[in-house]
Amino acid sequence: MSTLKVDEADVYYGRVHALRGLSFEVQDGEIVCLLGNNGAGKSTTMNMLSGLVRPKSGTVRWGDMDLATAKPWDIVAAGLIHVPEGRRIFSTMTVHENLLLGGYTVRDAKLIAQRVDQVYALMPRLAERRRQQGGTLSGGEQQMVAIGRAIIGGPKLLLLDEPSMGLAPLVVKQVMETIQAVNAQGTTVLLVEQNARAALKIADRAYVVESGQTTLSGPAAELAADARVIDAYLGG
Ligand code: ATP
Repeated sequence: MSTLKVDEADVYYGRVHALRGLSFEVQDGEIVCLLGNNGAGKSTTMNMLSGLVRPKSGTVRWGDMDLATAKPWDIVAAGLIHVPEGRRIFSTMTVHENLLLGGYTVRDAKLIAQRVDQVYALMPRLAERRRQQGGTLSGGEQQMVAIGRAIIGGPKLLLLDEPSMGLAPLVVKQVMETIQAVNAQGTTVLLVEQNARAALKIADRAYVVESGQTTLSGPAAELAADARVIDAYLGG
């Protein structure tokens, strides 16, 4: 069991107190969503889990690993892989080359080849476009490449920051279905979203993050029916 457990974490950027005693957990096999508005602290949370920003106090553990002190490289190698906001794929490299970059911590070339096949099976559209340059893809396809690249690293826990950003509703649906399929193949998912409606459809549980704290939590279906969530995040 490798439960992710964040307990009373505080993060500062200089004088800005970005996370204020944030607590939540993710169990093996779950899709958990963090909902919140701009500036609530969602990206900071993801960066803290990846070892890119450090908590000043509190605990951040994933199974045996202390994420508050572990090196980012070791965190990735252990299988906690972060797809940051904004996709960041390389526009002059092909789809295939972009995917291979996800294997930088994987030494076994056969394993990389197997995972590339797995990505193409999961996302046939990328297989069709494997020789196309990243910059010529649609936003949804670029998001798929970003998720596919993470899969090459062999994620046990996948962190997805705003995968629906800037995508049309139908494309959001396809991306969410892909995330569900990745989860069904055995990867635990922590999803950060402003698109609460789409995220709550695929999540098992969710937390609302406000001003660096989790203020509400529960099964996704319960939160989707909660008047406070409807008012604040589902457009009334
Ligand atoms: P968004 O969806 O807009 O990225 P968010 O919920 O991910 O929002 P964060 O980006 O984590 O929020 O920001 C949390 C708080 O920390 C905000 O008040 C933000 O202004 C502040 N912050 C984030 N990064 C920095 C930084 N590098 N330096 C100073 N303040 C920062």
